[in-house]
Amino acid sequence: MLSGLQRIVGPAGLLTEPEDTAAYALEHRGNYPGKALAVVRPASVEEVSQVVRACAQRGARLIPQGGNTGLVGGSTPDDSGLEIVLSLGRMNRIRDINPQDNTMTVEAGCILQNIQEAAAAQNRMFPLTLGSEGTATIGGNLSTNAGGDQVIRYGNTREQALGLEVVLADGRIWHGLSSLRKDNTGYDLKHLFIGGEGTLGVITAATLKLYPVARQQATAWIAIRSPADAVSLLSFLRENLGDRVTAFEIMARETVNLVLMHFPAMREPLPEAAPWVILAEVSETSVRVPLQEEFETVLAEAMERDLVLDVALAASEQQSKAMWDIRSHIPEAQRKDGPSIKHDISVPISRIAEFVEVAVPAMNAIVPDIRCITFGHVGDGNLHFNQSKPASISKADFLDRADAIHEVVHEAAASVNGSISAEHGIGRQKQDILIRYKDPVAISLMVSIKQALDPSNLLNPGRLLPATDTLSSQG
Ligand SMILES: Cc1cc2nc3c(=O)[nH]c(=O)nc-3n(C[C@H](O)[C@H](O)[C@H](O)COP(=O)(O)OP(=O)(O)OC[C@H]3O[C@@H](n4cnc5c(N)ncnc54)[C@H](O)[C@@H]3O)c2cc1C
Repeated sequence: MLSGLQRIVGPAGLLTEPEDTAAYALEHRGNYPGKALAVVRPASVEEVSQVVRACAQRGARLIPQGGNTGLVGGSTPDDSGLEIVLSLGRMNRIRDINPQDNTMTVEAGCILQNIQEAAAAQNRMFPLTLGSEGTATIGGNLSTNAGGDQVIRYGNTREQALGLEVVLADGRIWHGLSSLRKDNTGYDLKHLFIGGEGTLGVITAATLKLYPVARQQATAWIAIRSPADAVSLLSFLRENLGDRVTAFEIMARETVNLVLMHFPAMREPLPEAAPWVILAEVSETSVRVPLQEEFETVLAEAMERDLVLDVALAASEQQSKAMWDIRSHIPEAQRKDGPSIKHDISVPISRIAEFVEVAVPAMNAIVPDIRCITFGHVGDGNLHFNQSKPASISKADFLDRADAIHEVVHEAAASVNGSISAEHGIGRQKQDILIRYKDPVAISLMVSIKQALDPSNLLNPGRLLPATDTLSSQG
């Protein structure tokens, strides 16, 4: 079979030596160490189709992979040595940019940052921004329905897709690339593959929406008392500035302190250490509107209403970047700090404060002095509610309590009608809790769709949906 694959993709497109395949078998955080039978790297949709067909004939399991920055073990092979990684990295062409349609058509292996830059070169903007944008690919972004910092204004990746090209599990190509904004001709099939985590088909290209470039931006570091005030402030800003609010990130004091401790060259923009901080950004396409002044006026009014303790408005791009640096270094600070237990949950925006009020004391009841590294996208109700080990407990003791911590966090999210996964997906990490919290009829529909599109379970088997025997044992 491997020589057959090599005939399809050429010698440069097939890796079989362990030293060549190792990097593709290792997940970003080093979890789920695996072993690939081979890594196949097709360069065109026709090659993907032939590869999938050849693997289907032999019953070989394929793991689609983009930038391999996923955080839930969905993009790497298991340790059986039988799974083949299908890397989309060589399919990285921008096929078309149409400024009048405000669309671009790109291949799945295009790196997100390259897409942003290509749009900017045509005086357009592609709004998806993530910490991993220098490595993550649009195929991975679509397959995980990635979120990021500007979802509050532009929506998740799902909202950016107009059409897809997909290779199905039997090798057929679905030519679904379309730049139409209106097309009421039946089921909107692209939405099956977006967020499908590579279990229903291999995305090979996408037509994406483009937007006008923001010609003005203003950034503020805002000290507040509580998550409840954060939610009120967001409502107030939206009432006064509308869609111009493009980012609204929350950070707990503990979170800011962690970054400052591990990156001592960084400086907090305000002198007083407030209990919570908001990093807010507003954007405007017109140069005629005095954006900075309007933002300043609205924030001053928010202060008069006692929603805000203090504000630092960035006076330059450099100051804005310094504020964003604190936010973007949180994952790295956590990595430097040592063991942590992570959650990516979402709750209705109006219930964020309720969630925090229940979950933080519950964490302390399990591990006294635990550090809750809370941060996230308030406008999407998405909190990264992570726990870092306190000095008073050993690493082993801390990690022993991980299951109890996960249990309490997911229960707290469910109790306020939240979700156990906001933007990272399910992969191999959250299948048990998916089954536990998702509506059983929804699970049964998902299984039916999987069986209809991939009856032999060859595409990303055991990811997103657990193995069928687990499902039947759980009824
Ligand atoms: C530092 C850092 C910051 C991050 N920040 C964010 C964030 O703000 N928001 C967010 O949502 N995520 C974030 N992530 C997670 C990750 O970057 C995203 O999930 C991203 O969308 C994954 O893209 P990728 O190309 O790396 O996909 P991969 O990791 O390669 O794959 C992810 C999943 O998609 C499937 N897949 C990949 N390509 C295809 C394809 N062409 N067809 C079918 N299936 C495919 C894989 O099988 C796997 O299940 C972050 C990760 C890191 C390391």
